[in-house]
Amino acid sequence: MIKKIFFSGLMLAGIINATAQQRVPMDQIVRVASYLSSDELNGRGTGTTEEKKAAKFIAEQFEAMHLKPKGRKGYFYDFSYKHDANIHDTIKANLKPKIGRNVVAFLDNGAENTIVIGAHYDHCGLGLDGNSLDANPKGKIHNGADDNASGVAGVLALAHYLSTNGFKEKNNFLFITFSGEELGLLGSKKWCEQPSIPLEKINYMINLDMIGRLNESTKKLLVYGVGTSDIFKETIDKNNAYFSIKYDSAGVGPSDHTSFYLKDIPVLHFFTGQHGDYHKPTDDADKINFNGEEKILELIIDILNDLDTKPKLNFYKTKSVDMGNSSFKVTMGIMPDYAFDESLGMRIDGVTDGKPASKSGIQKGDIIIKLGTYKVDNVQDYTKALGHFNKGDKTTVTLKRKSDIKTINIQF
Ligand SMILES: [Zn+2]
Repeated sequence: MIKKIFFSGLMLAGIINATAQQRVPMDQIVRVASYLSSDELNGRGTGTTEEKKAAKFIAEQFEAMHLKPKGRKGYFYDFSYKHDANIHDTIKANLKPKIGRNVVAFLDNGAENTIVIGAHYDHCGLGLDGNSLDANPKGKIHNGADDNASGVAGVLALAHYLSTNGFKEKNNFLFITFSGEELGLLGSKKWCEQPSIPLEKINYMINLDMIGRLNESTKKLLVYGVGTSDIFKETIDKNNAYFSIKYDSAGVGPSDHTSFYLKDIPVLHFFTGQHGDYHKPTDDADKINFNGEEKILELIIDILNDLDTKPKLNFYKTKSVDMGNSSFKVTMGIMPDYAFDESLGMRIDGVTDGKPASKSGIQKGDIIIKLGTYKVDNVQDYTKALGHFNKGDKTTVTLKRKSDIKTINIQF
């Protein structure tokens, strides 16, 4: 039995490889990722001239594929936001709003339902927004090749495949490249609040954020959100013969799929994992594993085709850590980094304004190693430790920030 499956698997892999070159346009992926992460675009900071320049470039690619504009003005979906890394939340209300820009395109197959394929294209710009992990970030270009020129190149490659395969899928496709992700999923949140198509017509959402660093020896691929529909895991397993996949069932995670999950839409998020260049000026295009990215996109195409034969997916709520809606009596208001190496502590991937963590000065990138007297080696430890506290309790958080160990007072 095992032998037989192995044999037919090999044969199938041969057939898939033979068509691989035609399905995923490698030259386009390299061109898109290299341009977006070039110094010319100054790190694509939200609200900057270069963000608008990147948006224009993406819109031109959509137009060349004859996709319909689905933004507010052509392909552009502008949204206003307030952000200043140096200003405390309480006076944020007085800030002058800035404009961020999502780019949205539609492949109309005349179908009832639509699949959203998204990736954020903004990054940390010149290190002025308080989200860089460089010791001295100001003025340095944060090129963001993996984070997330790689994901945008993936969205455009999938758009290319789906619009040129000569086949009408039973779903429409909406391609969105988001801005404001690095400032807190702003672009996806705004789009979900005022969507270009009715949310109830969205079958599911696929998010690509950092798919350019596949490790060739481990072949580890992280897939989040598999618990948000009952059919995801078996479909992925059935189509995967190449990757060592680490599944996470949660629909809430550190990227734009969270915004869709919170609107009761099944989500899948693909991610090749953390690395030392994360949110630093050294996240450059020459470190992208384009062959690995191609293989991920091949897998996604197989998943899309497989699910296309099925009715609209059912949505399931999943357990999430510390989002304030669970059984916890207290919340710190942080988003854990689920991909961070377990046993080294719990890395924070986002801090919610106005909650205990942000009030105590805890920052994105900090690694919690102790909560009160409880040792924190990973997300599970953190969750358990949190269960010991009640609202109003005071305690300390011990954390690593760059090379320092800090102890910070906190009140729930
Ligand atoms: Zn990202």
